[in-house]
Amino acid sequence: ADEEVVRPTHVEVDLDCLAGNLAAIRAHVGPARVMAILKANAYGHGLVPVAQLMVRQGADYLGVAFLEEGILLRRAGIRIPILVLGGIAGEQIPLFLRHDLTLTAPSVEKLRLIDEAAAALGMQARVHLKVDTGMERIGIHYYNAHLLLEASLTCHHVQVEGIYSHFANADAADLAHARLQLQRFHEVLEFYPKRGLPMPMRHMANSAGILQLPESHLDLVRPGILLYGVYPAADCIRSVPVQAALTWKSRVAYFKVVQPGHPVSYGSTWQSDRPVRVITIPVGYGDGYFRALSNKAEVIVRGVRHPVVGRVCMDQMMVNLDQGTAYNGDEVILLGAGPGGGISADELASWAGTIPYEVLTNINTRVPRLYR
Ligand code: PLP
Repeated sequence: ADEEVVRPTHVEVDLDCLAGNLAAIRAHVGPARVMAILKANAYGHGLVPVAQLMVRQGADYLGVAFLEEGILLRRAGIRIPILVLGGIAGEQIPLFLRHDLTLTAPSVEKLRLIDEAAAALGMQARVHLKVDTGMERIGIHYYNAHLLLEASLTCHHVQVEGIYSHFANADAADLAHARLQLQRFHEVLEFYPKRGLPMPMRHMANSAGILQLPESHLDLVRPGILLYGVYPAADCIRSVPVQAALTWKSRVAYFKVVQPGHPVSYGSTWQSDRPVRVITIPVGYGDGYFRALSNKAEVIVRGVRHPVVGRVCMDQMMVNLDQGTAYNGDEVILLGAGPGGGISADELASWAGTIPYEVLTNINTRVPRLYR
């Protein structure tokens, strides 16, 4: 049998840590239930292994962005309910039904398409209605939402299991807009008791809502980033203790002394004014280590932080040890826990001028994921 080849550059995911984060969220939001959000390769942590863990740990529901992600989970043998959060193209509906995926209905038109497709197949489609209360992404506007709710009553091949909305800025210090969104959602929901109809499962809270707006927990919460141990914004109320589960590592591939007057990497953007020790690491923007980190980021080698110098290349980058020491094969921490406090996704994001979400989801599939 072939030996499994693992690149020196890899991601380690601590499954116990993910389990602990889920447990902490459950304890905080109970009796509300938890939909684990696994879109974008489980925020870079690996879709199927994270889904399997979430199922083992008792997550109530899984959420993904696209049909394809839902199908991957079904093919991997995941049986619990899966909601596809993104919009749908009409021709995809039969595939949703065949794979027993819960659909998002963001408009009357889409709801009717779902109903027709389900009728043609002699099936019932499980649907969550999507109401836009102030995000202007997908979903029927709250002021028209009664049209969607009413239409759902005449769609006999649709079972409205849930109804939801999404916060635009529940991570802000000023929660006025988030509170307004929640109030609009409650007004939409009055439709059900007014008509003596049972209330579908209501959900709204993302990680920021979970942390900062307990009144938004409703029947179910939808944590993404928090599940992975990262806070949605640096100054968010940290009402749930979580820990980052992902570490991105590489190894020293090359060591040299660079003389003054000899610039490093493409564009010759950096040079030293004295002889320095420079190492080369086999990771680059082709793996998702942003080129914007050129001359900005630090990595940890032998417990010490050292700067990335010169431009990050597609597959390699250089680090200035100055007078420090490292040997070929030494471990390099690019992101995650480690000696000296490690390097957080927040820190990497601020160096690259982005948010931790993009740092995590950008680590691409060329980087092997190892689970422990
Ligand atoms: N719910 C929906 C509809 C989303 O689009 C997302 C992600 O953007 C989430 C929940 C999870 O968000 P977060 O990662 O901020 O918890």
